[in-house]
Amino acid sequence: MISDTVIEGTRQLSVFDQVAEMEHEQVVFCYDQATGLKAIIAIHNTILGPSMGGTRMWNYATEDEAITDALRLSRGMTYKNAIAGLNIGGGKAVIIGDARRQKNEALMRRFGRFIESLGGRYVTAEDVNMTTRDMEYIRMETRHVAGISEAMGGSGDPSPVTAYGVYIGMKAARKKVTGSDSLTGAKVLVQGAGNVGLNLIDYLVKEGVLVSVSDIFEEKLSQISSKYKVDIVSSDDIFEADIDIYAPCALGATLNDESIRKMKCSIVAGGANNQLLDEVRHGRMLIERGIVYAPDFLINGGGITNIYYDYIGNYKKELVMKQVESIYETCLSVLNKSEKENITPQEAAMAIAADRIAAIGNNKLSF
Ligand code: NAD
Repeated sequence: MISDTVIEGTRQLSVFDQVAEMEHEQVVFCYDQATGLKAIIAIHNTILGPSMGGTRMWNYATEDEAITDALRLSRGMTYKNAIAGLNIGGGKAVIIGDARRQKNEALMRRFGRFIESLGGRYVTAEDVNMTTRDMEYIRMETRHVAGISEAMGGSGDPSPVTAYGVYIGMKAARKKVTGSDSLTGAKVLVQGAGNVGLNLIDYLVKEGVLVSVSDIFEEKLSQISSKYKVDIVSSDDIFEADIDIYAPCALGATLNDESIRKMKCSIVAGGANNQLLDEVRHGRMLIERGIVYAPDFLINGGGITNIYYDYIGNYKKELVMKQVESIYETCLSVLNKSEKENITPQEAAMAIAADRIAAIGNNKLSF
């Protein structure tokens, strides 16, 4: 049974209060006794088109935590898809459970049937702990899925394209701070050596960046040390590290009171979603500390761009990569807008996305 209160910071909000506050259209709770599936599909906004966003499988400590994650992530997708210039709305799904133990064909196919029941209002793809194989199981039940393997005729894992966009966004932020977008010799700490983190490290190493890495799994760190010359940083020391750029590529909310107070870098640019625990408060704290923040939903939009063209059946890798390169100019204009209007980069990017939605749907989202 889902409890009717959600704890978010010190506030207690009911599910409907959260949905009202974040302006969602629909939230679907999916349960299947036979497979043990417990999933939440959150559709935030469909003005630009069907909602699209990946599925995350995570062993949430509580159901409330899973609901909040689904709501926050799906809202982020609305802004991400809008600023990326895609004709899709924002949605996201979470599956509650331990991906290492509970994921199997039956569970994925049952989940696929729930997606099918929404008739195309929500389209899924990979997020944390999901693979192209999982998408193929979902595809057996619904066509509202992208990110199938290339061998099966799809566009494959979107993470390398996400990482490319993050790299491009990082260069734009570097340009804003130093006047040059070269990253050679810069000290960059990548938190999370997963699908996005690994691909990002590849770009960084090739440009002569001094990379340090942190991950909670030893095997990920040994995998990376065997391939690249990188420093390993313990999770406890991330925010004290002497670095130029912090690249969060694990989970969200790492930009908070405690971390921002300690941080020594001049730029935050990474692939993780929802990096700011509190969008307004922590966005402002970063400015006060002189740290330039490249908004997560802007610079990590490469993967969804890849998925979008795959889903609409007009996939050409070179064109996708070209479109992802436009993140550079968008990021610079967001950082300039933020400076000029004395607002945070997050607010500047959200304003651009909200304006596009308002122009199409005559509906001004509040943020
Ligand atoms: P992933 O599961 O492949 O990698 C995440 C990595 O972070 C794992 O190696 C995990 O061990 C590590 N990790 C978890 N908690 C950590 C912690 N506290 N400290 C250090 N490491 C930790 O996931 P991914 O696909 O690489 O996605 C990473 C982030 O990027 C997520 O927030 C995801 O939502 C976001 N994102 C991913 C894509 C994509 O295309 N994959 C697109 C947009 C946004």
